[in-house]
Amino acid sequence: MKNAPEHFDLIVVGGGASGMMAAGRAYEENPNRRILLLEKAKQLGEKLRITGGGRCNITNAEFDTRKLLKHYGEGEQFLYSAFSQFNVKDTFSFFESRGLPLVTQERKRAFPVTEKASDVVQVMEKYVQQTGITIRLNEKVKKIIKNGNLLSGVISNKREYTTNTIILSSGSMSHPETGSTGDSFQWLKDLGHTIITPTPTLVPLSVKEPWVKLLSGVSLTSTKITFLADNIKKFSETGKILFTHFGLSGPLILNSASQVSDLLYSKKVTAQIDMHPEIDLGTLKNKVIEIFKNNPNKLLKNILPEIAPPGLTPAILSILKNHTGSNHTGSTCMVDGDKRINNVTKEEREIIVKLLKNLPLTITGLMDYDRAIVADGGVPLNEIDTKTMRSKIYKNLFIIGDLLHIRRPSGGYSLQLCWTTGFVAGQHAGMTCDL
Ligand SMILES: Cc1cc2nc3c(=O)[nH]c(=O)nc-3n(C[C@H](O)[C@H](O)[C@H](O)COP(=O)(O)OP(=O)(O)OC[C@H]3O[C@@H](n4cnc5c(N)ncnc54)[C@H](O)[C@@H]3O)c2cc1C
Repeated sequence: MKNAPEHFDLIVVGGGASGMMAAGRAYEENPNRRILLLEKAKQLGEKLRITGGGRCNITNAEFDTRKLLKHYGEGEQFLYSAFSQFNVKDTFSFFESRGLPLVTQERKRAFPVTEKASDVVQVMEKYVQQTGITIRLNEKVKKIIKNGNLLSGVISNKREYTTNTIILSSGSMSHPETGSTGDSFQWLKDLGHTIITPTPTLVPLSVKEPWVKLLSGVSLTSTKITFLADNIKKFSETGKILFTHFGLSGPLILNSASQVSDLLYSKKVTAQIDMHPEIDLGTLKNKVIEIFKNNPNKLLKNILPEIAPPGLTPAILSILKNHTGSNHTGSTCMVDGDKRINNVTKEEREIIVKLLKNLPLTITGLMDYDRAIVADGGVPLNEIDTKTMRSKIYKNLFIIGDLLHIRRPSGGYSLQLCWTTGFVAGQHAGMTCDL
């Protein structure tokens, strides 16, 4: 080690949302203490910059804490005390008093009025930069030093530090390009904490349409699926899709889940399945006309297996039955599967062909846990003091943000968790960093 150990009263490891909140709050609580914020990336808040598709869904505007906490699964009871110290209203005041008003959109998702995540980062940077906090960027913590029942310092890629108190806010493992590579998980394990492995992001997708249930177990090979965000095409994949009781699975879907998850953070996501990606709409139309011409007396429901992949007939019939488009007379158009082919109108045939090329779906989230990117994993809550975010193993260690094992959906709940746990840890570490 080139330099002699440098001493700080408090070291915060990780300059993301939770770490910046913790460092700033610790300083406000106790401005006489020497605080160090270590961040391995070249700038603070790398992940914060990409939240909400760059718009940053900063919190969820549910001001009734009881109702809000219901979204944190098993974390509900644990979080009461923390939210009594810093709640959603406090998040609004925090940003608004620093010149960044928030606006509430559908599903109570709150965004900065500018809809720029970079503005949120700027507020947080200012919060830590204008104080007496020492910020060191490009500095990666490699080891935590333990001394009996207390932690005594950290070793970075540049030097060794001694300290009275450590706040760990180094995040989880999603989007590792932002710096969140799960470094703390190994240190925490070595220190005797339990680590619950974060659930992988490769997960099936849940779908709104009830007809999906009719297809449970059906798989489509060589199918093209296109994902749209707010009706704008985002990406397409071709491969195997498996329908499940709740939605879509199969390799193609699993591999698309993390991209879909990104879209779900800020947009309405829909999908279109093309059952005949090998031919264009015109060719398919001619093929269907030909088949219909050769089978005038057959029932539509009996012809469908000839033009759609095996197993899909029940779903197509269900969609056709409930079809709400308008025909040329302006009345609602429902296509009956019990019709003979020679009674199927041109408009009805067009609807069928369109459906084969463009089976519409509404994606409601990732299966198992709604629209998560990192929605669980980390230190279990029974190892953390509910009032302070202090480790129950080391009284001079605080653990916050994505490092805590708290399941939550998208909608601003993750960042609110960071603001709250960051504030609480900063407050208590600031008060006690003389230990
Ligand atoms: C694409 C995407 C979009 C999202 N959108 C939203 C949204 O709109 N709303 C919402 O509520 N949530 C959203 N989330 C979740 C939210 O971003 C996270 O929950 C939150 O950023 C976690 O903050 P954190 O402070 O715990 O950790 P992080 O933001 O991960 O910060 C941890 C920091 O620690 C640093 N670090 C790691 N290891 C070391 C080390 N060894 N030494 C020094 N520094 C280290 C990292 O570089 C990083 O800067 C989104 C997540 C993703 C991936």
